[in-house]
Amino acid sequence: MKKYSIFSLVRNAIGYHQDWQQAWRSPDPKYSYDVIVIGGGGHGLATAYYLAKEYGITNVAVLEKGWIGGGNTGRNTTIIRSNYLWDESAAIYEKALQLYEGLSQDLNFNIMLSQRGVINLAHNLHDLRELHRRVNAIRLNGIDSEILSTEQVKVMVPILNTHPDARYPVLGASLQRRGGVARHDAVAWGLARAADARGVDIIQNCEVTAILRDGGKVAGVETTRGVIKAPKIGIVVAGHTSMLAAMADIRLPINSYPLQALVSEPIKPILDTVVMSAAVHVYVSQSDKGELVLGAGIDGCNGYTQRGSLHIIEHQISSLCELFPIFSRLRMMRQWGGIVDTCPDASPIISKTPVEGLYINGGWGTGGFKATPGSGWCFAYTIARDQPHELNAPFALERFVSGALVDEHGAAAVAH
Ligand SMILES: Cc1cc2nc3c(=O)[nH]c(=O)nc-3n(C[C@H](O)[C@H](O)[C@H](O)COP(=O)(O)OP(=O)(O)OC[C@H]3O[C@@H](n4cnc5c(N)ncnc54)[C@H](O)[C@@H]3O)c2cc1C
Repeated sequence: MKKYSIFSLVRNAIGYHQDWQQAWRSPDPKYSYDVIVIGGGGHGLATAYYLAKEYGITNVAVLEKGWIGGGNTGRNTTIIRSNYLWDESAAIYEKALQLYEGLSQDLNFNIMLSQRGVINLAHNLHDLRELHRRVNAIRLNGIDSEILSTEQVKVMVPILNTHPDARYPVLGASLQRRGGVARHDAVAWGLARAADARGVDIIQNCEVTAILRDGGKVAGVETTRGVIKAPKIGIVVAGHTSMLAAMADIRLPINSYPLQALVSEPIKPILDTVVMSAAVHVYVSQSDKGELVLGAGIDGCNGYTQRGSLHIIEHQISSLCELFPIFSRLRMMRQWGGIVDTCPDASPIISKTPVEGLYINGGWGTGGFKATPGSGWCFAYTIARDQPHELNAPFALERFVSGALVDEHGAAAVAH
């Protein structure tokens, strides 16, 4: 892999940008691999990257039914933070944030991480007490988190309606300064390029249609590009996790719902942090292109459509204008949906399964982008060593039998 640097930029500029090396290959699938990763989203690509980097397992294929990053990775609102309530969640999300902090250097690819802070607003006394409790718990885990007064919020976000007569007055907020956003495509592309450079085959337009077993063990997969054999298979397909698990006769406690997002026309820089309100149901940031990026709530019923819908726009925009009256004349430009996989405790699954050699990474619901490198790092360990790392042990499938749930409902502005 040729290194990206200021020198390569100058060299290629002189050559009219004709000689850039392809970022990753498009190989035909081989007959067999040591590990197959199903799903070419950020989590699947991170898994393959860390399998190669940390464990030297390079005979790996990532099988993607569409194009890499075309699932939730390319559809999310890109908010990154690690301010989770429970110790188990704090540990894994903080690991992910720390990996994010070094990821551009590690991958030699600018993922445009912008640690501009993530603010969670409190609109009533209950909200405020809840935020105090969370901030205390988060700080006990050594993670940065602080409470802001209304005045401090006003200084950070002058365009927010903090008037005491507002329908949703702002009584304060919590802030994680190390939180922020990153460019979602760049995360997928950077991981793909670095994994490919270590020998991983990234195979797009290759849908897995069946999981082959030999007795109690996995033997390979059937795909739209033929049968591919492997003794170890990782399922990392977000909203389609339960469908892939069903191919191996595993029933998961996962519900899949569309989650919608929308962006405005680009405007000049006006919002330099991320603002979330669980009560009003808004989370908004401004992209480097100038668009406001807005997330909605999950649709009211299960589904697999990756489309937007009008009532969601109305609801989101009315909530946005309630908090930011200044945006009332802004035009919305695009809207879409992604399929999120939600577990009963709103926490993920990174686990071995009853089928030998079959591993599952899913259930990230509405909040897995922030976990991408940490999730891949833990999953690579689990696959390579055939046992969970201590960071993902609490997120094994057994918790749905033992009842040791990690209840993170309320960890996000999106209830699920
Ligand atoms: C609108 C929206 C906003 C969000 N906002 C945030 C946010 O702000 N912050 C945050 O942390 N998280 C957010 N999320 C959640 C986050 O996007 C996901 O948790 C995360 O991106 C999941 O990554 P992944 O790699 O597991 O899944 P994906 O990126 O969806 O990758 C899975 C891949 O598997 C492929 N696949 C499926 N079936 C098959 C098959 N049979 N064979 C081969 N390939 C298959 C799919 O095509 C897909 O590319 C949001 C999600 C949505 C939809």
